[in-house]
Amino acid sequence: MALGEFNETGIDSLVWLSDHDKVYTKLTPRDAAYRKSTDISKVCGNCRYFLEGGACKRVDGYIEPDFVCDLWEATVPKVSNIVSKYIINHSL
Ligand code: SF4
Repeated sequence: MALGEFNETGIDSLVWLSDHDKVYTKLTPRDAAYRKSTDISKVCGNCRYFLEGGACKRVDGYIEPDFVCDLWEATVPKVSNIVSKYIINHSL
């Protein structure tokens, strides 16, 4: 099921999107090629693994919001936003 799609109950998407509690084995900054970003659209601050306060779920150490690494992935929309969009698109 693609991101944002719903079956009759919406449960599949919601479960898939709720992996925020997943625990990863962290890489060192060097192994992840952590570096100053040259592309403002791809920075730690908008990566799905960034944690407020300067940490990361995937990379050890202090993480600067304007840096990036090879593991960057776009932030996953919050479940509440997906549900709101679904309700707006499916209401009469
Ligand atoms: S780009 Fe994402 S995965 Fe890589 S160090 Fe920054 S927050 Fe962590």
